[in-house]
Amino acid sequence: MNKGADLYDGTEFEEYMAEIRKHVCSRCIERPPDGPPCQPLGKRCGVEINLPQLVEAVHKEHSNWMAPYIEHFHEDVCAHCVNRQTEHCPCALEFLLELAVEAIEAVDERKQKAAQ
Ligand code: SF4
Ligand code: SF4
Repeated sequence: MNKGADLYDGTEFEEYMAEIRKHVCSRCIERPPDGPPCQPLGKRCGVEINLPQLVEAVHKEHSNWMAPYIEHFHEDVCAHCVNRQTEHCPCALEFLLELAVEAIEAVDERKQKAAQ
């Protein structure tokens, strides 16, 4: 991975992005050479362009099953995605959603523990 600045550095989503880079992007078979970040390399992935919406969709759910997360993803993220009906869709996030949910919930757990 590119060790330079990342897309959400300095924002409330920085920790989510870092965790997703570690657990999702590291396993992505669509990762371009020198990525991530992938957007500056011309690859538009939901992980990067929709991160705030993705985090919000995951926060709506807390389940041991993936089905409700998939539903929120399609309704709240994909429905408004700028990639829809372009060659960039479906993106890697469609296939790596489970890992992304785990990463987001791991950050939430850490934040909760830190706040206690
Ligand atoms: S394509 Fe998406 S999931 Fe894959 S490395 Fe790039 S940002 Fe991460
Ligand atoms: S699967 Fe398609 S619509 Fe959904 S986030 Fe990825 S590119 Fe956007």
